[in-house]
Amino acid sequence: MNCIFCDIINRKANAEILFENEKVLAFLDVRPVNYGHTLVIPKTHSENFLSVCKEDLLELIRITQMISGAITKSINPDGFNIVTNNGTAAGQSVFHFHFHIIPRFNNDAFSFKPNLKSYSNGTMREFADKIRAKIF
Ligand code: AMP
Ligand code: ZN
Repeated sequence: MNCIFCDIINRKANAEILFENEKVLAFLDVRPVNYGHTLVIPKTHSENFLSVCKEDLLELIRITQMISGAITKSINPDGFNIVTNNGTAAGQSVFHFHFHIIPRFNNDAFSFKPNLKSYSNGTMREFADKIRAKIF
């Protein structure tokens, strides 16, 4: 399997590593939205948010909070986004699960610009029923 993030974990590819422990690695994104943009990944390869094991996910969230704090203290952004893209349609380009920590500044160029929809009569309940039926 060819995976650039596994190569970074195994030191076969270079990266600016910020932190690592037994389960998690954090490093700078090489093409940042803003400087300090960081990726937090599990050391065990997993494709996405649904397949990553729960133990790794808990540790990823804990470390993502810790690194977000360090970015806030060191870079002093006006805010930050925690983002995870899942699937090509959602913008995922590396299929090794990761959280982005994106430092944000007032009036920076980055925006999601969503084209917001409205639910027509009854359809909100229909969508909710469909989803509720699959929660277990
Ligand atoms: P995504 O599009 O959500 O899958 O995010 C993948 C991210 O990985 C992108 O923002 C890339 O800039 C970043 N990326 C890809 N290759 C490398 C690399 N070798 N070192 C650091 N970041 C990388
Ligand atoms: Zn991988």
